[in-house]
Amino acid sequence: MQNISTYDFAGKRAIVRVDFNVPLNEAFEITDDTRIRAAIPTLKKVLEKGGSLIIMSHLGRPKGPADKFSLRHIIARVEELLGTPVQFADDCQKAQQQAAALKPGDVLLLENLRFYAEEEGKPRGLAEDASEEEKKAAKAAVKESQKAFTKTLASYADCYINDAFGTAHRAHASTALIAEYFPNDKMFGYVMEGEINAIDKVLNAPQHPLTAIIGGAKVSSKIGIIEHLLDRVDNMIIGGGMVYTFRKAQGGSIGDSLFEEDQQETALRILAKAQEKGVKILLSDEVVIADAFDNNANSKIVKNNAIPDGWMGMDAAPSTVEQWKEVLLASKTILWNGPVGVFEMPNFAKGTDAIAEILAEATEKGAFTLVGGGDSVAAVTRMGYADKVSYVSTGGGAMLEYLEGIELPGIKAIRK
Ligand code: AMP
Repeated sequence: MQNISTYDFAGKRAIVRVDFNVPLNEAFEITDDTRIRAAIPTLKKVLEKGGSLIIMSHLGRPKGPADKFSLRHIIARVEELLGTPVQFADDCQKAQQQAAALKPGDVLLLENLRFYAEEEGKPRGLAEDASEEEKKAAKAAVKESQKAFTKTLASYADCYINDAFGTAHRAHASTALIAEYFPNDKMFGYVMEGEINAIDKVLNAPQHPLTAIIGGAKVSSKIGIIEHLLDRVDNMIIGGGMVYTFRKAQGGSIGDSLFEEDQQETALRILAKAQEKGVKILLSDEVVIADAFDNNANSKIVKNNAIPDGWMGMDAAPSTVEQWKEVLLASKTILWNGPVGVFEMPNFAKGTDAIAEILAEATEKGAFTLVGGGDSVAAVTRMGYADKVSYVSTGGGAMLEYLEGIELPGIKAIRK
């Protein structure tokens, strides 16, 4: 594996997998260009060092070629941010001539990789009533044609850079399989490097005390990360909808709060494991409850194991946030994933917004703070704290899998 900062790009064509999967409005205008901006340092590095670029990405979830998902819509913005013209290849599989003609400083953007089923290696267009055998045969066929697809992409370039952390948990043609064609000329881009370094600071070399705040709706979707983190953290704050499954499992009354019947044993197992490992678990104590799942519902504050029928837990109460704050401000490393309340409703977003504010304060005091997951990132951004925490992870699913201890295919392919 090579290092982007020291690699000699002079006269070389670099194929770079980026995450340009940006949101577009109905007029195909970009509504948030964060992901494009994030990739610019990597792209500029290649150009500054005398290389040329072949940029590849997916956009949305097309089932085949479709103008709605064309990367053509983002060319102007890439040109603007990169400060140089960008050529476009209408078909990512037919760009041989354009790639071969690239001169140092030139940039070629390939059309959406997911116009081809081979990018993901999953069959498309199968009849709903297809038999297991037909499904198996279709899968084998696309896996076979995926090899040629990957080889064609690889043939365009002399070196490969993966800078798409958001898809690093996928073993797709452009995110993982292509790396094998560049055994001595493959590397991470700066986005990937930043994400890996930030998560490693929490998982592998944290300054203690290390506190994780895990929120969100369901125990079942966070169990992997909670279990993996229990071996590492000193404190774990558990908030959001999942806390009620814990409280009910402990014998509390949770009214109509979110509840996963089949996760009660898991919740009790987590509490027992935490005790065994000396990890302090902080479940929200007092919560804001509402008489309907509605921003304008009636609300009041109660203990979260004494919620009356007809009411549901919606947010952490100020007294709970105060307890958490004390632990957070004494921490040297903090990881935050998942809102601690129904943060989409302004009346029940106060706990989540307060966490964003506390993390900014902890960062200022010298803690390393990592925020990941769409909702927590949205909260720090909305509150204007995105620049006031140490690192904001851009890869939702990829980050979660990394935190669960899973070796991501996109990382493994570069490292091996
Ligand atoms: P996740 O995707 O698992 O991180 O969950 C995020 C979702 O959890 C958000 O849409 C929140 O509205 C939701 N959530 C957080 N707290 C609660 C709660 N007390 N009751 C219901 N949903 C919640």
